[in-house]
Amino acid sequence: MNNLIKFIEGLPKAELHLHIEGSLEPELMFELAKRNNITLPFKDIESVKSAYKFNNLQEFLDIYYQGANVLRTEEDFCDLAMAYFYRAHRDNVVHTEIFFDPQTHTDRGIPFNVVMNGLLAGIAKAESELGMSVQLIMCFLRHLDEESAFATLRMAEPFLDKITGVGLDSSEVGNPPSKFRHVFAEARKKGLKLVAHAGEEGAASYIKEALDILGIDRIDHGNRITEDHLLLTKAARSAMALTMCPLSNQKLQVVPDLRNHPLPYLLRHGLRVTINSDDPAYFGGYVNDNYKALAKYCDLKADDFIEIARNSFLGSFLPDQTVSAYLDVLDKYVDSF
Ligand SMILES: [Zn+2]
Repeated sequence: MNNLIKFIEGLPKAELHLHIEGSLEPELMFELAKRNNITLPFKDIESVKSAYKFNNLQEFLDIYYQGANVLRTEEDFCDLAMAYFYRAHRDNVVHTEIFFDPQTHTDRGIPFNVVMNGLLAGIAKAESELGMSVQLIMCFLRHLDEESAFATLRMAEPFLDKITGVGLDSSEVGNPPSKFRHVFAEARKKGLKLVAHAGEEGAASYIKEALDILGIDRIDHGNRITEDHLLLTKAARSAMALTMCPLSNQKLQVVPDLRNHPLPYLLRHGLRVTINSDDPAYFGGYVNDNYKALAKYCDLKADDFIEIARNSFLGSFLPDQTVSAYLDVLDKYVDSF
């Protein structure tokens, strides 16, 4: 087991499901609150941590939006991003495709370009200092209406060459993918990749909608695809990638006991599953912690983790040539271990 843990830690990997706002650690939250003269509803770091007990997705989101309130300036967004890149780098993440939620910021008066310029400064630093490659996926908040998503897409217009794709996050149940069919069609026309959270708390029909109506290129979570075998077979045949997040599932009671996590089953059925950290500051672990949690609770061997790491590159939005280069690095690591 110890050997497997060491092997997992060193595996070169990509992270494909990470909300940058969800990487805001309580320590940085306090630092930014102080910098921006904001009074937090928590007296210290410990009371923030003890507030991180959630029974479902909504309870988490309520506190997540509160935390994001400390992000005000380009410098704040740059510091937030850099804190994540340093941390991911330690887990041997060599490529990452990060989500950001512009509406969380524009709705409280932070201009879109402040968010973008801050994140882009962080990305440039990660590329030059850490040698990581980074792509940006702009998420629409699904509890808001489609018109608000359209407004966000219009704000993103000057930055479209810096944004790889669009996604869909926030409260899933009651906000099916079809609610956003027009804005996703528009994003596709602009050459953007499409992803959506589906089948985390929502039924398998949400995954089906995301695939058939939105035409997504990758599924975020997708746990409940196990409930529709036809859909599962179809997704496996088209090498559809799933960005799964075990510790998030555990913390939000989607899969309270990780021994029942669907990832091993989906891996055996040929789905391109990947392991990711979702909102690591809130869910108790970065990407390697998620790999290790599955190593502990599920029957997965070194070969399975190699396949999962391979999937993380194959399921990325990198050009084929770059994917091949990363797979070579991965093979070299495996050979040398
Ligand atoms: Zn997520």
